[in-house]
Amino acid sequence: MDGLVEQIKSWQRDVFIFDFDGTLLNSEPCHFLSHKKVIENLFPDKVFTMEDFKNFTGKRDVDIYQEISTWGNIDKEKAISDKQKYSLEMLRQESVKIFDYFFLLVKNFPTAHFFIASNQDENTITEVLKSKKIEKYFEKVFSMPSLKLQKDQFLKNVEKFVGAKAQQVVLFEDSSSALALGKKLGMKTVGIKNEANLYQTFDCDMQQDCMQKEVFGRVNSIETMGLVDGPGIRFVAFLQGCHLRCKYCHNPETWPLNGQSEEISATELVKKIEKYKNYYGSDGGVTFSGGEPLLQPQFLLECLKLCKQKGINTALDTAGVGFGDYKEILKYVDLVILDVKAVDEKEYKELTGESIKHFNHFLKQVQNSGNKLWLRQVIVPGMNDDEKHILSLRHFAKKLQNVERVELLPYKTIGVSKYQQLKIPYRLNGVAEMDEDKCKNLEELLK
Ligand code: SF4
Repeated sequence: MDGLVEQIKSWQRDVFIFDFDGTLLNSEPCHFLSHKKVIENLFPDKVFTMEDFKNFTGKRDVDIYQEISTWGNIDKEKAISDKQKYSLEMLRQESVKIFDYFFLLVKNFPTAHFFIASNQDENTITEVLKSKKIEKYFEKVFSMPSLKLQKDQFLKNVEKFVGAKAQQVVLFEDSSSALALGKKLGMKTVGIKNEANLYQTFDCDMQQDCMQKEVFGRVNSIETMGLVDGPGIRFVAFLQGCHLRCKYCHNPETWPLNGQSEEISATELVKKIEKYKNYYGSDGGVTFSGGEPLLQPQFLLECLKLCKQKGINTALDTAGVGFGDYKEILKYVDLVILDVKAVDEKEYKELTGESIKHFNHFLKQVQNSGNKLWLRQVIVPGMNDDEKHILSLRHFAKKLQNVERVELLPYKTIGVSKYQQLKIPYRLNGVAEMDEDKCKNLEELLK
């Protein structure tokens, strides 16, 4: 943020207009996840990856779905409105991080007038501002959908809306077209560089790098001396959030991304992990588990990188259903502990509520990256505790490379009371715990 305040002071302007998401909050995960949802609904065989998303960078939804309509016959209007609906839902729910430069401006320009001009709807903007306790700083919020305007029409008529000439305005934007127009109209323009427009060039008076320097994530709980989640003694970090709904899940409290959990920076978490380094010995280290750790890919990646820098062995305990740049993540993982819910497509869907395609996609990346692999399957009486199921798991494992171990985990009922507390129906009522000896015997069939 070097020089930002001095530069703005030199412009001698007192009206600051911000775009909403992208300049005031990190909306990128919301946009990624909402595109993912729409596209995977439209094309059931498609797995939407971070690589696909990078091609969307800086493009408008209408252009994106125009391009997508060439993949197959889709109702563009509906796709765009679904995308917007999902983004709004997520913007409301997800934790958003206000960039530091905003507070720097508030502090240094106490008499300036702050406005928002955004393509989001008013309720969403207001809710997010309130949740961040910053609504008091804004004189007015202009929502383009409520005004039935495009952003460029707003900018061209800025005097009518904010009561100030373009020559009084500093425009904070992350869209190259709005920046170019603002500049042309005589506004001073600050281009906000973030993850969404990283590869774009801006025509603006000043550029502000708002890539988050520190990556934050949500951790449900930690265990400092774990003995069952990978080799040796391990620090286990259970990350918040899971998209699957396994019938036997004993941690339903980890499902919501925004559920009760601690927000912590990657640096802080790794400091905690490092504290126990002397106990890990030659085999142990850290295991990132969940929930589903792949649902917080940036945080996970940052933690993994920091751990590797500090010489800590890393394991990833996952069901393989998340998002992010798997190839990059897997570079920093010493061992993948993969939860194989079911190998049969129908049984997988029946157990988890999701298509197996996401799991298959992740597994392919693991195989391409050459990671060491442990496979695990929970064995439930009457569901998969028979020879046929175990032999198909054996067959599945034999086809894979680098499998070091296949484990069967007996089903337990320890999580049932949590379902009552959370008022979620438990779907395995009446199913007894899996007999541990029988489970051990079944493991013999894997050899
Ligand atoms: S993947 Fe794990 S956390 Fe997610 S629902 Fe299944 S058992 Fe629960």
